[in-house]
Amino acid sequence: MGQYVAPLRDMQFVLHELLAVESELKQLPAYEEIDADIINQVLEEGGKFCSEVIFPLNHSGDREGCHHDKTTHTVTTPKGFKEAYKQYVEAGWPALSCDPEYGGQGLPLVMNNSMYEMLNSGNQAWTMYPGLSHGAYECLHEHGTPEQKAQFLPKLTSGEWTGTMCLTEPHCGTDLGMLRSKAEPQGDGTYKITGAKIFISAGEHDCAENIIHLVLARLPDAPEGSKGISLFLVPKFLVNADGSLGARNPIFCGAIEEKMGIHGNSTCQMNLDGAIGTLIGQPHKGLNAMFVFMNAARLGVGMQGLGLTEVAYQNALIYAKDRIQMRSLSGPKAPDKPADPIIVHADVRRMLFTAKAWAEGGRAFCSYVALQLDKELNHPDEQVRKDCADEVALLTPIIKAFITDNAWTATSECLQVYGGHGYIAEWGMEQYVRDARINLIYEGTNTVQSLDLLGRKILQDNGAKLRKFGAKVQAFVEENGTDEAMSEFITPLAELGDKVTKLTMEIGMKAFQNPDEVGAAAVPYLRVVGHLVYSYFFAQMAKIALAKQDSGDTFYKAKLATIRFYFARLYPETAMCIRQARSGSANLLSLEADLF
Ligand SMILES: Cc1cc2nc3c(=O)[nH]c(=O)nc-3n(C[C@H](O)[C@H](O)[C@H](O)COP(=O)(O)OP(=O)(O)OC[C@H]3O[C@@H](n4cnc5c(N)ncnc54)[C@H](O)[C@@H]3O)c2cc1C
Repeated sequence: MGQYVAPLRDMQFVLHELLAVESELKQLPAYEEIDADIINQVLEEGGKFCSEVIFPLNHSGDREGCHHDKTTHTVTTPKGFKEAYKQYVEAGWPALSCDPEYGGQGLPLVMNNSMYEMLNSGNQAWTMYPGLSHGAYECLHEHGTPEQKAQFLPKLTSGEWTGTMCLTEPHCGTDLGMLRSKAEPQGDGTYKITGAKIFISAGEHDCAENIIHLVLARLPDAPEGSKGISLFLVPKFLVNADGSLGARNPIFCGAIEEKMGIHGNSTCQMNLDGAIGTLIGQPHKGLNAMFVFMNAARLGVGMQGLGLTEVAYQNALIYAKDRIQMRSLSGPKAPDKPADPIIVHADVRRMLFTAKAWAEGGRAFCSYVALQLDKELNHPDEQVRKDCADEVALLTPIIKAFITDNAWTATSECLQVYGGHGYIAEWGMEQYVRDARINLIYEGTNTVQSLDLLGRKILQDNGAKLRKFGAKVQAFVEENGTDEAMSEFITPLAELGDKVTKLTMEIGMKAFQNPDEVGAAAVPYLRVVGHLVYSYFFAQMAKIALAKQDSGDTFYKAKLATIRFYFARLYPETAMCIRQARSGSANLLSLEADLF
């Protein structure tokens, strides 16, 4: 069922030639020992795990799905998942970027990020079991009490236990302020939590011996709305003082959802019936604490989109070179065969280039953000930490929404390369399209990400974070503006930078008069800013590729072709999106709802 080969060459290009991670990491005391060889070796080993262990389970896991036993409330994952998870734990992969104090290997997030791209290419549904655990680890690491950390972090680090995030309830998804689950203090520092959660990924499964649920609920004296939500740690099995497993906590899976994709991941309805939990962070400040998890998860969802884009591209490329249909318009290219391979046709190339460009642009962008995150957490200079934090905050909604939107297009184009064979299950392409679709929805829909970008991250701080990013773009434009060979990349980058500045001011002014203008502009606005970010990274990559195009390594020739395709065929979307964003709210909101 197809193939997956880790894109190590492109990863190395991004990490070493574009981002110079080795010298960047040397400035962070925690990572000064890390060199390019270590990074390459770890990624090579990680790539093997993804290709050889979890990729072969991707299609079978999709066909089989998870099984729920209503009497025992247990969930069995598809054949092979549990064994692959055991292998993953034994190899130490869950601990890669975790804190050595809790048994972690202390490697940088930028490496973990590349690992997650490969895991998601291998098998997104499987990867969600360890992926959510990592988010739970980060949340507890930042907000847990010393006791909670001592008891739970080592097991999350090793992967012996997994984690979940329990936010959504039947009546509230986006609007968590409406959630109803209740937490009653027991007077001994614990709480009894009661409520119904839905759509909980990896809520119940057979891969790990315990599951640590991070649950949002309300205390009895909680204020209404989102300011009255607290966060609780609720283990499936209570944990005794000596670390052994105690009684089964009443948090049970009532059912698993039948869904469009990611069938190998259990999406659970979880019922809490007086389940014992402990508070994480401050009372009523649960959403703040949960935001650590949610931000980690948003970056993680971006990697899901990227992983699917890459694996769909790889397979479509193989097919396009093999499948023969029709002749090239300019005459036969394979005269010895009854027809030409479809890769000769211009539009098949457009589809392949689309996926290739979204994969390579996304890889550069995600790796950069992961490196900024390492600097935010570890740089000795406080101002650098703050600048990096601002940049990560600005770019996180773009990672989540832009990459997953593009992955939806890319997987669909790759399916199209197969013609009718893409639509039937046998070749595996329709699974990538189905799996890719959820990434636009969970962790805050892509609309919510757009509102977060335009409303909170940009307008609420009067554009300060965007200006800081814009200054980097401007510096690059000035540095390379006189280089004639770079003008085909610098001109569109500089033009888009100016347009984003004007567009942001225009929407900001209109929003003063009418807040609905933000909602009406947000989605196309995010795509415009997404293109600004990609143009910036593609222009930087072009500079490297131009300098090395005569080196004899055809990698740089292919890189330049991809970048030229991006500016010629994907970037022009910005013109349409700018018109849409400027068109205002009246074309959406003037019609009364009952006249639709
Ligand atoms: C497979 C799967 C796995 C999931 N895993 C988890 C998990 O592990 N943990 C968890 O807690 N949840 C999980 N979820 C839930 C997921 O995060 C929610 O479905 C998502 O946040 C959207 O909430 P909703 O489904 O209630 O949609 P709603 O909030 O009802 O939104 C419906 C539509 O209205 C739009 N909308 C809402 N408000 C606005 C607004 N202000 N402006 C513009 N548009 C708006 C939304 O964008 C959306 O298009 C999962 C969901 C699925 C399907």
